[in-house]
Amino acid sequence: MTALLIATIGLAVPAITTPVEAAGPRPFFQLPVACGETWRLSTYVGHDDYDIDMFPTEGTASGRPILASYAGTVVSSSYDSGGGYYVKLSHGDGWQTLYLHMLESPMVSVGDVVAIGDQLGKVGSTGSSSAPHLHYEQLRDGAKVESWFNGEPSGITHDDANYSVYRTSHNCGTPHGPLWNRVRSSAGSWGVSSELDGNRALTGTAAASLPNGTMHVLVIVPNSGIYHRVRSATGTWGSSVRIDTSGYFTDVAAVGMPDGTLHMFGVIPDSGLWHRVRNTAGTWSSSTKIDTSPIISDVAAASLPDGTLQLFTLVPGWGVWHRVRSAAGAWNTPIRIDDNGSISDVAAAGMPDGTTQLFTLVPRWGVWHRVRSAAGAWNTPTGIDPNGNITAVSAGSLSDGTLHLNTTVYGSGVWHRIRSATGAWNTPTGIDFNARIFATYTIGLPDKSLHVGVLVNTA
Ligand SMILES: [Zn+2]
Repeated sequence: MTALLIATIGLAVPAITTPVEAAGPRPFFQLPVACGETWRLSTYVGHDDYDIDMFPTEGTASGRPILASYAGTVVSSSYDSGGGYYVKLSHGDGWQTLYLHMLESPMVSVGDVVAIGDQLGKVGSTGSSSAPHLHYEQLRDGAKVESWFNGEPSGITHDDANYSVYRTSHNCGTPHGPLWNRVRSSAGSWGVSSELDGNRALTGTAAASLPNGTMHVLVIVPNSGIYHRVRSATGTWGSSVRIDTSGYFTDVAAVGMPDGTLHMFGVIPDSGLWHRVRNTAGTWSSSTKIDTSPIISDVAAASLPDGTLQLFTLVPGWGVWHRVRSAAGAWNTPIRIDDNGSISDVAAAGMPDGTTQLFTLVPRWGVWHRVRSAAGAWNTPTGIDPNGNITAVSAGSLSDGTLHLNTTVYGSGVWHRIRSATGAWNTPTGIDFNARIFATYTIGLPDKSLHVGVLVNTA
């Protein structure tokens, strides 16, 4: 079978109208096929720029599930002499995806709202096609563009030659669910967990504390924005306030500074890292993009007594970058401090003694710990937890000099560990045995209480 046999006349291209406003950031698209499968993405001379024909590398193509690349609304579900049975999704802000040559009538109808990973139909060979495959496109303001998957470009950009690439699907569904919070008293006793936010769509969270004793919790609501909630120094929770209306955030970090300001950092794939500041009067600044890297996956921040802010960003495949914001508000240039491309999560905490404690998670290896001295020198990372089933880490500090690490273990729950002010680690203790936790925050308050938030996956 040669690729040339897979002719696609395609759909009549709609007139490209001038958008009223510029398209928004690219949604975090995934391959439109089952999680974990490797498919060959190919094109051929005369196909059309950016068009992709997809073939599974194992098993039979015909009948294989075609999944939504991202959440959206079905805008076309029909038959076309060129495209055969096909579906087009709108993802908002000018972005669409197209799926052609389905085996039979699509499984979704115009107007249906779909989540990422929902099945749209089955791979077939209807229309102008001579072998079962999925013809796929991503469109921006009605025009084809290079398809990206999991934050990375596909590499299929032109039809000047026959060529192909291989990609593995990370279309595994987005873990999401409500947020629970638990308090450890200054005496070390744990209270009961309470549901802090019942929204079952939450995909990320972060927490920070300020010298005045307030605690601040941020949550990401996909397709809606970032919401902020304040706990008073006396323990009263305020209502949730939407502070950012971009629906594209995939990670968030928060840190409180000695001067009473609160800093928020948010990751938008294909856009970069955004920063904003809440002043002591409670007013948020506008967002500023401080890093244009399109594939940051994680951000962590720590505050030091000297008023500096220590920022860490994770770029999959590349490692961890570190950046310092001076007490006067000046950013230095990011420096790569760890080139391990396998790192999947980072956490950081600033200590009363001026050190910064950094934790990196390497899947199937465990957690590594590293210290930056008050003078700015990094030590060598030390493996402190060789549990290959850890999926997430968070860390916080208390004014007594203790450091608190929480690891989320696949299928097991959250384990808490303390590093004393003199640097001795205790044995991890299970503090939450919900097997569906997928993310946590850990934050110490001035009264030496510790709050741990957990997001519970209901996907
Ligand atoms: Zn095609």
